[in-house]
Amino acid sequence: MLFVRICRLLPTTSAPLALPRHGFPRRSMASDPETTRFDFLVIGGGSGGLAGARRAAELGAATAVIESHKLGGTCVNVGCVPKKVMWNAAVHAEYLHDHSDYGFDAGNVRFSWEALKAKRDAYVSHLNRIYRNNLDKAKIQTIQGHARFTSDPEPTVEVNGKKYTAPHILISTGGHPSVLSEAEVPGASLGITSDGFFELETLPKRTVVVGAGYIAVEMAGILATLGSKTSLVIRQTGVLRNFDAFISANCTKELQHSGIDLWKNSQVKSVSKTETGLEVTLVTKDPEKKNDGEKISTIQEVDCLLWAIGRQPNTLGLNIGEMGVDTDERGHIVVDEFQNTSRSGLYAVGDVCGKALLTPVAIAAGRKLAHRLFEGKKDSKLDYSSIPTVVFSHPPIGTVGLTEDEAIKSRGKENVKVYKTSFTPMYHAVTSRKTQCIMKLVCVGKEETVVGLHMQGLGCDEMLQGFAVAIKMGATKADFDKTVAIHPTSSEEFVTMR
Ligand SMILES: Cc1cc2nc3c(=O)[nH]c(=O)nc-3n(C[C@H](O)[C@H](O)[C@H](O)COP(=O)(O)OP(=O)(O)OC[C@H]3O[C@@H](n4cnc5c(N)ncnc54)[C@H](O)[C@@H]3O)c2cc1C
Repeated sequence: MLFVRICRLLPTTSAPLALPRHGFPRRSMASDPETTRFDFLVIGGGSGGLAGARRAAELGAATAVIESHKLGGTCVNVGCVPKKVMWNAAVHAEYLHDHSDYGFDAGNVRFSWEALKAKRDAYVSHLNRIYRNNLDKAKIQTIQGHARFTSDPEPTVEVNGKKYTAPHILISTGGHPSVLSEAEVPGASLGITSDGFFELETLPKRTVVVGAGYIAVEMAGILATLGSKTSLVIRQTGVLRNFDAFISANCTKELQHSGIDLWKNSQVKSVSKTETGLEVTLVTKDPEKKNDGEKISTIQEVDCLLWAIGRQPNTLGLNIGEMGVDTDERGHIVVDEFQNTSRSGLYAVGDVCGKALLTPVAIAAGRKLAHRLFEGKKDSKLDYSSIPTVVFSHPPIGTVGLTEDEAIKSRGKENVKVYKTSFTPMYHAVTSRKTQCIMKLVCVGKEETVVGLHMQGLGCDEMLQGFAVAIKMGATKADFDKTVAIHPTSSEEFVTMR
């Protein structure tokens, strides 16, 4: 609390205040009297920034959030939220195939992308308003515009010609989808990214998705399941290569089973516009034959080419180089375990740091930082180990902790024991459509501590959180075995593995 009191003892303002309420700007101590001063200035009103700002304001800090686009950031506007709505729609489409097996005569069901988009957009706008109201209620000032550090001696940010400063400035500017240049792939700009996916007004008839990460897998799955003829172009032989090999192989297989046309060892060479849509030219390598094994193919009449080839941090245009803030070779802000940048008083959380690019990670890091800065909890920091994550593929993937390869690398092969199973979930007992469920436990040491849990199958998305708690608490295989199964479920397999 001492720190909060110190913040409150800062001199009051002489510059005109936009909204003179508790928690609103302080008098400028900067050399420029027009500079508005807060206790905490947050650049980026996405997951991490909003969480950090709200917690700081709760703890008594005069806080402002600067946002250049829409409040809520990637997750709310072009990420988790609208993506999950689309995935839910795709799951509906899958279940429609099973209706007759379960005795329903659903008749001729028609899907309207337009109706779904209108509802989804309205929901996102509703969330934008809620975020704005929450900031107002917390007496946090929202500043609309693009923030850029100035060359003032004290870290200062300029937005629309006005200057703002604070002893603590959080950079939570997130990232944006990577795009290829015309020099790299002629015609590349004819494609869209995940941001453009959420602007599509109609369901494309013919889609090509490029990429092997979770966004590519999710978007290809949604489009294909909703009825777009979809090709997925990947550079190597499998998707999700950072995941456990068991998951990567199974997800690759499931994508093919679901009717997605998978182009392995392939890259887009060029894209051109024809009268009937885009023509996407691919080069496919035969890994056995090196250069002379290259084959050129074209996919014609494509009405949506979607690049899902990674994300870049939003650091360009912030002028952080001049501030002495270190970045890595990809532009991510380098932070220590307490989210401190290399410049005192400047912090960074979330995607802009390039580590565990997930909403709950950004939120947790932002809140932990607020407790450290404004509640005097000097050890408050996020533990980045065993972060659970779900891929909304078909069926979904849940994963937490070390992959088998990582466990072997860190603990030695002789200290790692793996339990695996694969089965058809009971949901499919009466359906002609089938999916598999696969599960793996990675255990280490004599006590068989469970350090990794990986699964793909119906319901795995909702199954993971509870297991993640157990793993975070250091559960052993014996603890799993001691737990009575819930029957009939898929999750019971985790406590009956031998
Ligand atoms: C398609 C897709 C699906 C995803 N699905 C999931 C999921 O299912 N689960 C999950 O956990 N995560 C998911 N993510 C990741 C998740 O969205 C991000 O990890 C999360 O949003 C990161 O939060 P952040 O606060 O770091 O950045 P963001 O939420 O991106 O917020 C950054 C904000 O800063 C603003 N900004 C940038 N520069 C400036 C500037 N100079 N001045 C002012 N404002 C600025 C931006 O406009 C933005 O609003 C998904 C991402 C994508 C793209």
